[in-house]
Amino acid sequence: MTQPTVLLKIAVPGPFRKLFDYLPLETNEKQALLPGIRVLVPFGPRKVIGILIEITNNNQAASFKLRTVTQYLDAAPLFDEKTFSWLRRVSQYYHHPLGETLLTAIPTLLRKEKKPHAAQQVFWQALSNDPQQENTLQRAPKQRAVYQFIQQQNSAVSQKVLLENFLKPQSILKTLQAKNLIKPSYHAKDLPAANLPTASPGQTLTDAQQAVTEAMLSHIHEFKVMLLNGVTGSGKTEVYITVAKKVVASGKQVLILLPEIALTPQLVARFRCRFTCMIDVLHSGLNDTERFTVWDNIKNNRTQILIGTRSAIFSPFESLGLIVIDEEHDLSFKQQDGLRYSTRDIAILRAKPNGFPVILGSATPSLESIANIEKPHYLQLHLTQRAGKAMPPKIKTLDIRGRKLIEGLANDLITQMTATLERDEQVLLFLNQRGYAPALICHQCGVVEKCPRCDRNMTIHQARNRITCHHCGYEKKLPNECIHCKHSDLRPIGYGTERIEKCLQTLFPDTDIIRIDRDTTARKNAILRLLEKVKNDTGQILLGTQMLAKGHDFPNVTLVGILNADQGLFGADMRSGERLAQLITQVAGRAGRGNKPGYVLIQTHNPEHALWHTLIHESYNTYAQQALEERRQAGLPPYSFAGLFRAESTDITDAIQFLNAVKKSMQTYEALGVEIYGPVSAPMERRAGKFRIQLLLISQQRDKIHQCIAAGLNEIENLKLAKKVRWNLDVDPLDMS
Ligand SMILES: [Zn+2]
Ligand SMILES: [Zn+2]
Repeated sequence: MTQPTVLLKIAVPGPFRKLFDYLPLETNEKQALLPGIRVLVPFGPRKVIGILIEITNNNQAASFKLRTVTQYLDAAPLFDEKTFSWLRRVSQYYHHPLGETLLTAIPTLLRKEKKPHAAQQVFWQALSNDPQQENTLQRAPKQRAVYQFIQQQNSAVSQKVLLENFLKPQSILKTLQAKNLIKPSYHAKDLPAANLPTASPGQTLTDAQQAVTEAMLSHIHEFKVMLLNGVTGSGKTEVYITVAKKVVASGKQVLILLPEIALTPQLVARFRCRFTCMIDVLHSGLNDTERFTVWDNIKNNRTQILIGTRSAIFSPFESLGLIVIDEEHDLSFKQQDGLRYSTRDIAILRAKPNGFPVILGSATPSLESIANIEKPHYLQLHLTQRAGKAMPPKIKTLDIRGRKLIEGLANDLITQMTATLERDEQVLLFLNQRGYAPALICHQCGVVEKCPRCDRNMTIHQARNRITCHHCGYEKKLPNECIHCKHSDLRPIGYGTERIEKCLQTLFPDTDIIRIDRDTTARKNAILRLLEKVKNDTGQILLGTQMLAKGHDFPNVTLVGILNADQGLFGADMRSGERLAQLITQVAGRAGRGNKPGYVLIQTHNPEHALWHTLIHESYNTYAQQALEERRQAGLPPYSFAGLFRAESTDITDAIQFLNAVKKSMQTYEALGVEIYGPVSAPMERRAGKFRIQLLLISQQRDKIHQCIAAGLNEIENLKLAKKVRWNLDVDPLDMS
C-alpha cells in the first residue's frame, strides 16, 4: 500500500486544545480538499463531525497508526478565508478550543450528519415600471397576466400563490425576470408575506442627524469604530438606515445587531419599508430549519441586510461592509457560557482586516467604548437632542423617607399617575424585580425561606401558588408553615411586579394594566402581543422589569415611575454604578418621546446620592467621565485587563485545590506584572448545589495576561481534578457574580 502523502489536521468538538491527525479518504472522486469543510471522523468508539483545518505533508513514519476520515460532508468550505481566519483568532483570544468555536459559529443542522435543506420560499415582486419592457408584453398575454397579477399585490407574492393561480408559471417568471420587470426574494418559511419589501421614502434628517451621517459616510470604505453617542429618542435608527443604504448600494452586506428579540419586529418593519433589497432576521425565536435557511441566504449573498441578536455575528457573510451594534452597552451582547465572547469586541476583530466600519450606538455607552475613543481608528459622534418636537424628560427624585407608602408606591407618584391617565396618556412603572415578593419571612421566628441549592432567598410567585429560586430554577408549592418553627404566619417582604400589579388593579380599577416581565412573556410571541397592545391603546399603565428599558418607542408614555432604584446604589460589583446609571437613563428615556413632555419620578431613600445628582443635573456622559476617572485611579478595567477562572463543585475543597494548582502554574508570571486574586468564593458562593470558586487575573498589559492564561491552561490538561470540577475561563469578564 502506498503511503498517503498528506495528513489532515482536524478540529473535533470537545475540550481539546490541539488538532487531531487523520489520513485522507481514498476516493475515486477527485475532490479538492479545502480547509473549512466538515468531515466525519472516527473518534474513540464514536464518529464525530470535525472541521478540516489544515492539510500538511505526511512526515510521520508511523502513519499506519493513524485513522482515516470516514466521509467528507461538504464539497466547499463553510467559511470563506477571511471568516475562517477571524474565527481562529476568536478561538485564540478567548483561549477556547477551535473545534468548539467553529461549531458555535454554524447552525445546529450543520452539526449533524444529515444533509440540511434550506426551506426558502421564493417570493416575486414587481419592479418600477419600465414602459418599453411593458410594451413587449402586448404580444405575450400569458406573461402579461402573470405580471399584472404580481403588480396588483401590495407586497411580494409567494411562488406558491402563483402556482395556484397559473399553469406552470416558472418559465414565464424567468422571462419576466430577464426583462427586469419582476425580481425574486427568498425567505424562511414562516415569513409573513405582508412584511415583504415595499420601498418608501423616509423622513428628512435633522441637521444633527445629517452631520453625523456625513461624518460616517466619509469612513464607509475603511476600518473605523464609530461610537454614536446619542440621547434617547435622538433618531439613531434613521442614521443607521441612511448609512446602510450607501453600503447596500455599493454591493456590500449589512449586519444590524440588537440586544433583544422583542426589538427586532419594530426595526425590521422600519427597514423593510425603506429598502427593496432582501432583509433577513435571525434570533433565538427561529427553529433550526429557519436558522439554517437564513444562514444559507447570507452565505449565498441573497440577503443584503441581516437584523439579529448576538449570535448573528457568526453569519457567513462574504461581502460584509458594515456592522451596527445598537444599544452597545447592553449586557446581552456578552455570551455567558461556552465561548464567552463579547459581540462588540469580535465584531471589531472581524471588521479590521476586512476594512469596513463598525457603528456602536447607545444613549448610555459602556465605559469600555468611551475609553476606547482615545485610540486610533475610533471616532465619537454625538446626537445631543431628541428628533422632532420631543423634549428631554424632566427627572426628579421623590424622597420617600418617612413617607407612608401604599404597597411600595408613594402618594405623590399615585397623584401624578392619576393626572396622567386623565389626560389619556400612558404611565410606565419600572421595578427590577419579578414575582410577587423577593422573600418570604416567618413572622414568629424571623426565618426567611432560602433555596436549598443556592445562597439566595426564594421568590414568591403568588398567582402560581409557588416559591421559586431565580438562580437555579428550583421551586415548590407556597408553604403554609415556617420550615423552622412550623408557625403559620408567613409574610411576603418587598415588592415584585406581580404584587404591584395587584395593588394597581385596586387603585385604578378601570385602567388597563400591562405587565411585561419574564413571567408574562415566557410564551412565544407573547411580548410582541403585549407591545402591540401598548402601541394601539391609550390610557394604560405599563409595568415591568428591565425588559421595558431597552430601546422601545412608546410615544404616548409621558410619566415614568422608578420604584426600587436604591437597590443598585450599593451593589458590590464594580460595574453596579455603571449599570444603574445606564438603566435609569434608559428607563427615563422612554418618557416623552412623542410630542408631549415627559416626566420621570425616582422613588428613593437616598435623594442626596451623588449618582442621582449627576444624572439629573448633568448627564450620563458626565457620570461616565467620573466613573472612568475612578477606574483609572484604581487600575481597573478598561484601564487594565482581566481574566477569570471559575470552578464549581459539590465539594468545595476540590474547587479550591483545582484553582490553587492553576494559580501555581502561573506563579512565575507574577514577575510580568500580572496580579492574581484568589482562589476566593464567588459573591454567590453556592448555586444549584455547587460551590463556586474564582481566580481573578488583572494586568495592565493585555498580552501578559494572555501568556499567563495560556500557562494555566497548559497545566489544566494534566490535572486530575480538572475532570472532577466544572471549570471555565472568562476573558474580559463582565459578570463576576
Ligand atoms: Zn418560623
Ligand atoms: Zn437555587
